[in-house]
Amino acid sequence: MTRTRTFFVILAVVLLAGCVRGNVTPTAPIVEPITATLPPAETAVPAPPTPTLTPQPPAEAAAGIRYDFDLSIDYYSHFVDVLQKIEYQNQSGDTLSEIVLLVYPALFPGSFALESMEINGQPYQAYRLDNKRLTLPLPRALAPFESISIQLKYRLNLPAREGTYGWTARQTNLGNWHPFIPAYLPGTGWVEHDPWVVNEFLVGEFLVYPSADYRVVVRMADGQQTVTLAAPAVEQLVEGARVYELPAARTFTISLSDQYQMTELVANGVTIRSYYFAEHAYGGAEVVNLAAKSLDVFSKRFGQFPRESLTVVEADFLHGMEFDGLFYLSRGFYGFYDGGAQNNLTIITAHETAHQWFFSLVHNDQALEPWLDEALCTYSELVYYETYHPELVDWWWNNRVNFFNPSGAININIYDATGYEAYRDTVYLNGAKFLAELRTAIGDDAFFRLLTAYVEQNRNKIATRETFFTLLDAVTDVDTSGLVSKYFK
Ligand SMILES: [Zn+2]
Repeated sequence: MTRTRTFFVILAVVLLAGCVRGNVTPTAPIVEPITATLPPAETAVPAPPTPTLTPQPPAEAAAGIRYDFDLSIDYYSHFVDVLQKIEYQNQSGDTLSEIVLLVYPALFPGSFALESMEINGQPYQAYRLDNKRLTLPLPRALAPFESISIQLKYRLNLPAREGTYGWTARQTNLGNWHPFIPAYLPGTGWVEHDPWVVNEFLVGEFLVYPSADYRVVVRMADGQQTVTLAAPAVEQLVEGARVYELPAARTFTISLSDQYQMTELVANGVTIRSYYFAEHAYGGAEVVNLAAKSLDVFSKRFGQFPRESLTVVEADFLHGMEFDGLFYLSRGFYGFYDGGAQNNLTIITAHETAHQWFFSLVHNDQALEPWLDEALCTYSELVYYETYHPELVDWWWNNRVNFFNPSGAININIYDATGYEAYRDTVYLNGAKFLAELRTAIGDDAFFRLLTAYVEQNRNKIATRETFFTLLDAVTDVDTSGLVSKYFK
């Protein structure tokens, strides 16, 4: 059984997705020295003690997915020819009579042009493409732990639109661009949701990716070798092609431009790259320091960052968005950056970096339980400010949260949302208030043991409200039932 909800969706107007749109009013420039230095090797954050908790069973079947891509990108004609190979081992626990692929580009008329498919090396034409769902009835059922190889050839005709998938005059974004095998819940089935659009705005995220191993080979069209490509992994050049490997990743997102400037910083063994446009060179160069500081404090608070690189891209659209190993910051955040810390560039860099833990490492169903990543990432902004700008903690609370007077049960799904602002206020902002009250109730030690255990035990699995509260019970004897009835429905 799939977990599908059908809604009236006008996809031509799915314009603004949104992990985060800025909600802090730009403040007047403040007199503050510009600090472009790295954080000290040891910050004031104590390493949390190793949790000794009983392991929980996974909520999601292990995935066993490997993707190999050959991409030919024509930046100026706005299409991509793709050869995609999928090696899938059935670790679902069920015998599968069909495989499902979800195809986000198919939501854009004419964007996804499937040319051919093979299964186990044989031509295969029995597929059905319905909206974004590509169903592959199998010639023979796939028993547990059996493997299958699937190959697809297709062209992506990129839509002209601002967003994580599409192109503008100075940027091409490949987010959610390839058919993927969605998460699978044993006994329940493929996790499949529809987007939620309110007043022409896409509210929240709805695709639930399991982890997969990626190898991506990119060739640019003739004469386009100088187009810059931002990727979530370090590039290797092999015979004129750009080659990337990203293990155990939820997504592999690419951004290209012939106008990017780039600043790189290696901090604690992680290569941090910031790609930005010339008019925002000041903020763009500083982003690597903001990201380095975020990685440092969150590694200490939540567990080690497991990747060799983190890439930040200035978005030619008006929100921030997390992907695995790469995130976008809206062009709107850069213009107001003044070198101080009271701005969205600082806040949202911390927020999106935190998604490397609460999205990339720990999965959650972002359509049904978005508070699990968004409340934690919003609260992570506070952790950043407590560490680096303790004098601005009150400012953060007042401007980021209290100004909007958030209320409501934080565990709504995206389909409960009546609009982006209401959704943000409840899930992100009231969610942060819940976590703050929880920390006060159980104490710093138990609170951060909870978060490190939550990351460690849910690595590459779909965490749930139940997972979270089971771990909470393991770290504290404090009665938190009053908080639960205050913040949850
Ligand atoms: Zn977010």
